[in-house]
Amino acid sequence: MGGTFDPIHYGHLVTAEEALVQFNLDRVVFMPTGVPVRKTHRSVTSAEHRYLMTVIATASNPDFEVSRLEIDRPGTTYTVDTIQALRDLYGPQAELYFITGADAVWDILTWKDSAELAGACTFIAATRPGFDLGRFSEERERGIQMETMEVPALAISSTDIRARFADRRPVRYLLPEAVSAYISKNGLYAEGVTP
Ligand code: NAP
Repeated sequence: MGGTFDPIHYGHLVTAEEALVQFNLDRVVFMPTGVPVRKTHRSVTSAEHRYLMTVIATASNPDFEVSRLEIDRPGTTYTVDTIQALRDLYGPQAELYFITGADAVWDILTWKDSAELAGACTFIAATRPGFDLGRFSEERERGIQMETMEVPALAISSTDIRARFADRRPVRYLLPEAVSAYISKNGLYAEGVTP
C-alpha cells in the first residue's frame, strides 16, 4: 500500500483492511514514499517521521507491516522500481497488488515506465463513493490491471488533518490517538513548521 502518509489516518487503515478482505490478501505492506514525485507545491514531512507514524498506526494489526524500501532508496520514488524490488523479494510466484488512492493513480499512464506496470501487479484504486469508476477504461485498454474499491472512510484526508493541527481544531476519531500524540510531541504540522 503506497502513500505519502503525511500523516496516516483511519481512511488509510480502513482501506487496507477492506483490501485485505475483498482481495483475499495474505498481508498488507505499508510503503511510505521516500521522495514523492510531484510534491513541489508543498514540503513533505521527513520520511523518518512518516515511517514512524505508519509503524505506530499499524502496530496492533498482525496482518499489517511497514516497509522502509522506498524511504531507504535514494532519489525520487517511482512505483515501477518498488514493484521490481518486491518481485525480487517475494519471487515470481507472488501475486502482487498495489493499493493506493484513486486520485493518486488517475495519471498512471504518465508515470515512469508505465508500460512496464502492465502485468507487473494489480492496482487497487481506493476512493470515496461518488468517484467515476469508469475513469480507468483507457488504463485497462493499455493492459494496466486496475481494480477499484469504494471506501466511505476516505472522506478523511491528510490535507485536512494537517490543517486541523495548524489551526488547533479537533482531530480525535480521524487518526489513531498514538499518532496524534506523536504529531503533538514532535511539533509536526504546527503553523509554519515543516520538520
Ligand atoms: P497523493 O497525490 O498525495 O494523493 C492523492 C489522493 O489519494 C489523496 O486524496 C490521498 O489522500 C489519496 N491517497 C494516497 N495514498 C492513499 C492510500 N494509500 N490509501 C487511500 N488513499 C490514498 O498520492 P501520493 O501519496 O503522492 O502517491 C500515492 C502512491 O502512488 C505512492 O506510493 C506514490 O509513490 C505513487 N506514485 C507513483 C508515481 C510514479 O511512479 N511516477 C507518481 C505518483 C504517485 P491522503 O492525502 O489523505 O492520503
